[in-house]
Amino acid sequence: MAKLQAIRGMNDILPENSLSWQYLEAAFQRVVRRFGYQEIRFPILEQTQLFKRSIGEVTDIVEKEMYSFDDRNGDNLSLRPEGTAGCVRAADQHGLLYNQQQRLWYQGPMFRHERPQKGRYRQFHQFGVEAFGMPGPDIDVEVLQVAATLWAELGLAEYLQLELNNIGSAEDRKIYGAALTEFLQSREDQLDDDARNRMHTNPMRVLDSKNPDVQAALAGAPELDEFVNEESKEHYAELQALLSASGISFIENPRLVRGLDYYNNCVYEWTTDTLGAQGAVCGGGRYDGLVAQLGGRQTLACGFAIGIERLVLMLDSLEKIPAAALQPIDIYVTCIGDRVTKQTLALAQAIRTTCPDLGVISHCGGGKFNGQLKRAFNSGAKLAVILERDGDSATDLQTARIRVLDDSAATETHEISAIPAKVAEILEISAS
Ligand code: ATP
Ligand code: MG
Repeated sequence: MAKLQAIRGMNDILPENSLSWQYLEAAFQRVVRRFGYQEIRFPILEQTQLFKRSIGEVTDIVEKEMYSFDDRNGDNLSLRPEGTAGCVRAADQHGLLYNQQQRLWYQGPMFRHERPQKGRYRQFHQFGVEAFGMPGPDIDVEVLQVAATLWAELGLAEYLQLELNNIGSAEDRKIYGAALTEFLQSREDQLDDDARNRMHTNPMRVLDSKNPDVQAALAGAPELDEFVNEESKEHYAELQALLSASGISFIENPRLVRGLDYYNNCVYEWTTDTLGAQGAVCGGGRYDGLVAQLGGRQTLACGFAIGIERLVLMLDSLEKIPAAALQPIDIYVTCIGDRVTKQTLALAQAIRTTCPDLGVISHCGGGKFNGQLKRAFNSGAKLAVILERDGDSATDLQTARIRVLDDSAATETHEISAIPAKVAEILEISAS
């Protein structure tokens, strides 16, 4: 019988890779904590309506990419394709939004039925932050500082570029959309089927077309910024001034529109040229209308989402993860000979108590000296603690050896009770 395989585009993250993930997750959690953001967890499955109403009916995500199905009650549910909708639903449902300010973060899997390729998967993972109840642009800058601080922390700042655009209000975009539709109709013969369909339903998505013929037809099209209201322009100018004052550099990209309908005013992406085609690592902006659109009271809001897989790819390929973070085992305690098990378990545990930040493996399963030492080397441990009984004696072992697992093979022998402190001394860590 054929073995079952994972679903295409859904990755298993094996132990050697999960270390990179843990490193990144720890860095992200440290950064959001430093900015005073608090974690919110919400379900992976929601009513399909939630995503249709927030992301928009005529978007790639809702039209083509959602995993939707009827459950046993006949309710139509979808695996979340992004986090903002669920975050807003949860925060509003539990009364966190009205008349309050909130700074929230989340992380977890998202699902989109896209064509799998490097940096693009069907189950992928995001970190997100969402801030509610503040008009900005101060909070927009703070949220961007969270991202910038993470890049700095990870040593990635020089590889990431912030691109900004102002897409105005929903009303501005409606008027602009009508003008764009009119323009596109005048060039209809130069468009492809996709663009012709989009022209009426979501004309701004035509601007994103990858078809060079469509791009050529767009020459001379009306530009969004001619339609953006004054207040929004002021917000955008102030945002740029504050970013510059905070030392966050950016470029303006008037073509940046984002694939989700709920954004207004400033939108942005952090991109890199180190990943090939999948260069967007973080996307976000303001979404002041979304809470009301989902049935809550008008609540100002902004936030971003980071693609974890793409960041891990960057960290790995640029070798930005410190060796220590990729090496979880520090000590390997061998268990050689008869009646050593009890002492081995006890000594390994004593080392864990004295040195709580170390990874200590206590050898299990018996075997000869050479075999156990080989396992010690393969574990990546820095030290082996060797408990070995060569003869047949009924008494407990009095001493053990500490062997440095490098070419020096330096070995020292100590009373067993002194071993935990010695290990700490050799590895230059403070014992507790
Ligand atoms: P892209 O333009 O690459 O399709 P997007 O605009 O659809 O990205 P967002 O919805 O803004 O992406 O999600 C934020 C981030 O999540 C992206 O910048 C990217 O890093 C990551 N991301 C989005 N879709 C995927 C995917 N299918 N696989 C892996 N990461 C993804
Ligand atoms: Mg996409």
